[in-house]
Amino acid sequence: MKTFSITKELVRVLKKERDTGRSVGFVPTMGALHEGHLSLLEESKKHNDITVCSIFVNPIQFNQKQDLEKYPRNLNEDLRLLLSVDCNYVFVPTEEEVYPGGIPELNLNLGRLDRVLEGKFRPGHFKGVAIVVKQLFDIVNPDKAYFGKKDYQQLLIIQHMVSELNLRIQIIPGPTLREHDGLAMSSRNLRLTIGEREVAPMIYETLCKVRDKAGEMPVKELKQWAIRKINSNSLFQVEYLEIVDKDDLHPIGSWKEKNNAITCTAVFLGDVRLIDNIELFS
Ligand code: AMP
Repeated sequence: MKTFSITKELVRVLKKERDTGRSVGFVPTMGALHEGHLSLLEESKKHNDITVCSIFVNPIQFNQKQDLEKYPRNLNEDLRLLLSVDCNYVFVPTEEEVYPGGIPELNLNLGRLDRVLEGKFRPGHFKGVAIVVKQLFDIVNPDKAYFGKKDYQQLLIIQHMVSELNLRIQIIPGPTLREHDGLAMSSRNLRLTIGEREVAPMIYETLCKVRDKAGEMPVKELKQWAIRKINSNSLFQVEYLEIVDKDDLHPIGSWKEKNNAITCTAVFLGDVRLIDNIELFS
């Protein structure tokens, strides 16, 4: 495994790999790696000759300075984990290496996709995500790139970007990996107190109940029921919980649309903001 922090050096090495006919798989991350990230890397290892992982905490996708400052960073442990899954190249750039000419413009019409759910509460977040992913795609030039369904809206937006910009990159979604008690793995879980961590599985438990109860009561009522259930523990504050169409994220009005529905939520647990989702279709 080789680690690069200079863009030009990584580009040169990857060009050589490609010139010898090797396919490149790419997993972009912000570090503080866990098994969710590793599952994407393992998929990439299976289906590509070369796997590249980037670790870059992208400042322009944080709409709150405090969230950026508190984002967990643990490079030594990350490198150890990447070695354990036999990752070939790790890219750990500085901001200057990712944005050498300053923050680039990206003309992308995301329509509803970045105005709802996360987009509504984190203005500018997805624009920052799209810009960094496009920069990293330009640098790594992968055949396939791997994204987790844990960040479902992000996955849709990247798929949309690739299709709008006609990029020749296949986007491969990976399932959400969970702790034994159901809590979706997230770098942010590291910031939970012991007490918060104990109650955290309630988010996924409630999502599972929404899936099980789908069809039993009107969509709006089920949504309100789920919000009340999570908020019934005062450590939680639901920011949103929506039952939406999985392709364009419009709120579904009736269970006729169930087979295309996904429930997405963002919940504050103390001052840690967690997101999760569950597909209502099978
Ligand atoms: P992040 O480091 O949080 O930006 O995540 C990097 C990639 O890992 C994104 O594609 C995420 O969707 C994915 N990811 C994060 N958590 C999980 C998880 N629990 N299971 C699967 N993929 C995940």
